[in-house]
Amino acid sequence: LKIEPYRPQAFIDFTKAENVQAYQAALTKVRAEQLGRHFPVIIDGKERQTDGKLVSTNPCDTSEVVGSTGKASIQDAEDALNGAWTAFESWKTWSMDARARVLLKAAAILKRRRLEACALMTLEVGKNYAEADVEVAEGIDFLEYYAREAMNYEGFGAAETTWFDGEENGLMYLPLGVGVSISPWNFPCAIFLGMLAAPIVVGNTMIVKPAEDSGMIAGLMIEILIEAGLPAGVVQFLPGVGEEVGEYLTTHARTRFITFTGSRNVGLHINEVAARHQKGQKFIKRVIMELGGKDALIIDETADPEVAVTAAVQGGFGFNGQKCSAMSRLIVVDSVYDNIVGQFVERVGKLKVGTGEENANVTAVVNQESFDKVSAYLEVGKREGKVLLGGEATGEQGGLTGHYVQPTIIGDLDPQSRMAQEEIFGPVVSVLRARDWAHALEIANGTEYGLTGGVCSRDRARLEQARREFEVGNLYFNRKITGAIVGVQPFGGYNMSGTDSKAGGPEYLGNFMQLKAVTERW
Ligand code: GLU
Repeated sequence: LKIEPYRPQAFIDFTKAENVQAYQAALTKVRAEQLGRHFPVIIDGKERQTDGKLVSTNPCDTSEVVGSTGKASIQDAEDALNGAWTAFESWKTWSMDARARVLLKAAAILKRRRLEACALMTLEVGKNYAEADVEVAEGIDFLEYYAREAMNYEGFGAAETTWFDGEENGLMYLPLGVGVSISPWNFPCAIFLGMLAAPIVVGNTMIVKPAEDSGMIAGLMIEILIEAGLPAGVVQFLPGVGEEVGEYLTTHARTRFITFTGSRNVGLHINEVAARHQKGQKFIKRVIMELGGKDALIIDETADPEVAVTAAVQGGFGFNGQKCSAMSRLIVVDSVYDNIVGQFVERVGKLKVGTGEENANVTAVVNQESFDKVSAYLEVGKREGKVLLGGEATGEQGGLTGHYVQPTIIGDLDPQSRMAQEEIFGPVVSVLRARDWAHALEIANGTEYGLTGGVCSRDRARLEQARREFEVGNLYFNRKITGAIVGVQPFGGYNMSGTDSKAGGPEYLGNFMQLKAVTERW
């Protein structure tokens, strides 16, 4: 396979009028062609009608039904598992190159349909133009990156071993078997694709259960993979309810690995049930997890205020704070607290709230459950700290009913308060005052999470100290703490934020393979 070296996709520049027009044209086209579509369960390459369905509504206008997916039953899950094992028998014999070609072809199709995928995401989960575009770019990157990575594992001797006289020794990489992917609604294209592309390119087969709120985008990605030539049964598309089919598959004796991105509580539950041995089980399940965060940005007295405040606004409110990487704690040292926090409040106060379609900065949170959860935290925030901006869950904007929450900043919080410890997953930032740099770093490390973090400072020694001591999987200096790029910033966290498996990184495919050492005496 001959192919240029990996490089990430460039993002679309929406300060250019022609790009905005192209996006709007894509929205019109998607409204005409995709709205109301139904994406059925697909098992062994065949669409299957289900009794129920999962309906997607536009979070920014909940009166609008965007479309639906099938709703898999336990029997569907069982059939998917059987079919995936059957498909595994032939898929595992394909060369790495041959499997990589499917990913590369899918990437080429997605590049052509980039704006269409973006527009569907705008309608289904409420992303604005740039957030949707960055995500589809990441989806393409995952396909391109893992395709190339797979080629490093081809054949006997792919890993180094030491010569031993009189023998031939070597290592070969083998896939694990059938895995289950349970993916999130906040990156319904990129993470959905990444979590299936990595396991399949090295020879596994997968059952994929997209999040209930974003099954249509997942369905579109499956359509693209099928067009790219993915053989039947290699990816079983199983939209359904987590507590039903998700639970069934994660506990099942014939599931070999689980890749999950979502909340800490669900992740810990999956980890627990996956660890339990089931009758007939002959493989210790592997669990690869990307969980929550309570990510902090520290701003010290040496920071460039413009750089620091921009980092805080982007990290805190990009996609309404609905990223596990989002800056949900802003820690500012006392001597510049009033100035920095004042500027931060002013800048966030200017963010436009509205629909994804009108390209607002802050849109509606994804669903009623999120809205209720974030609303409850607004009340906690009012008790624990001082509301500096926002504070209301309005549920409407510009005459539309949707899951709207005002961009909210709560100040003067205690580092041990619930607002400073618990993941909220909405447009809410908790601000903490630190005595000095040392105190700021101590506060930053004072949660059970460790996903992303950042420091805005011009003090080289402090940056070096943070490099060593800030306990996070992804650390950023003098910029926002979100938006990791595949291959550039391999992504994943410490502590309760997950298994630090580093999606989009050079070791990631190793999660989905086992090594066999073979020796022949000559
Ligand atoms: N990889 C994303 C980022 O760097 C976050 C992923 C997530 O929220 O699950 O912002």
